[in-house]
Amino acid sequence: MFVLYNTGMITEQKLRILTEAAKFDVSCSSSGSDRRNEGGIGNAAANGCCHSFTPDGRCISLLKILLSNDCVFDCKYCRNRVSSDTPRATATPDEICELVIEFYKRNYIEGLFLSSSVFVSPDHTMEQLLLTAKKLRTEYNFHGYLHVKGIPRADPRLVHETALYADRMSYNIELPSERSLRLLAPQKSRESLLLPMKDLQLSKIAFKEEKRKGKFLPAGQTTQMIVGATPETDGTILRLSQSLYRVNGLKRVYYSSYVPVVHDPLLPEKAAGEVREHRLYQADWLLRFYGFSAEELVGEEGNLSLETDPKCAWALRNMQLFPVEVNRAPLEMLLRVPGIGARSAYKITEARRYTTLRFEDLKRMRVVLKRAKHFLTADGKFYGEKREQAVRSLLAEGKPEQLSLFSDRETVFSALTGEL
Ligand code: SF4
Repeated sequence: MFVLYNTGMITEQKLRILTEAAKFDVSCSSSGSDRRNEGGIGNAAANGCCHSFTPDGRCISLLKILLSNDCVFDCKYCRNRVSSDTPRATATPDEICELVIEFYKRNYIEGLFLSSSVFVSPDHTMEQLLLTAKKLRTEYNFHGYLHVKGIPRADPRLVHETALYADRMSYNIELPSERSLRLLAPQKSRESLLLPMKDLQLSKIAFKEEKRKGKFLPAGQTTQMIVGATPETDGTILRLSQSLYRVNGLKRVYYSSYVPVVHDPLLPEKAAGEVREHRLYQADWLLRFYGFSAEELVGEEGNLSLETDPKCAWALRNMQLFPVEVNRAPLEMLLRVPGIGARSAYKITEARRYTTLRFEDLKRMRVVLKRAKHFLTADGKFYGEKREQAVRSLLAEGKPEQLSLFSDRETVFSALTGEL
């Protein structure tokens, strides 16, 4: 928690409640670490700060806070729901603005992730979020990164105006089907979440085409889905993500493994675990950068394998397509070889214009050969194992592992980003 000196603004108690209440939202990319300060320097478990990445790849720290946690909605999984007995607080737009400016001047943060429970009504909440964003930009002259949460059922005109001040907005889908929403978040519906996303995307396109002055959500939109609270399969989740990327132009879908923070007979008692979430991030990466479709990765009623990553699982189901010759295979096929990441695939297509690539060359290009060797030939030579043995080796090494300083560079990179 931050220590406030002479700021004469929001109280520490209010700040604690509003930052604590914001910590379960991962749609702004947060570390989620639970390492506490036990006498040393720093505290990774403190609420209030998270990190995000700008389009040019910079990592920036954000103040992550709710405007209010005094919610009138009653989503069963949420600690801030109206029927929950939790301390409540609501900040004013000026309190948030002053906090941001003070923290920015002290170099604590570079931007703001501003969310809110639905307090009073959806329109009132959206109005207060808009007012905060507008004040920050026009009165406090703040030009840092600003991510604002969209409120379901709020007047589209308020949402649209907020987008003129925010860098990014997000509507959290939370539950992947209408049925689960009806059951666990009765005041929300798919329409109340998906329509504003689509509206924002269409307005962004129109804004660009009409070459209007100013900015309209330059960092686009994101959303979050809770995984494991309801029975939807990975197939359903990934089809929804695919449609969000293709139709609504979303920048990122975040997956948040279900953690029980409230007790309700409709909810599982145990946390969903992180392996499934990790596999979904890997599959999501394949959707966005590797040309895979959700249908190729998993059947609608099915789940991703927990044993091996989704690209390897796809390759094992399609062994008739392999091995491919690395000097001739089209880029789209190289991207499907387990162990060849997007960067390696592009390097290969570039290098083979000048020379015939051999196995040693691939090593130098940081291709993960212990996986890739089963699926390719280099200059006509195959170094993999026979099919059954290859399957056994890949399944054995595919299990998610604890990363350490001694894990190889590609494995660490893959686990951090989802890249395969
Ligand atoms: S709208 Fe639902 S999820 Fe959001 S704060 Fe209120 S109860 Fe929680």
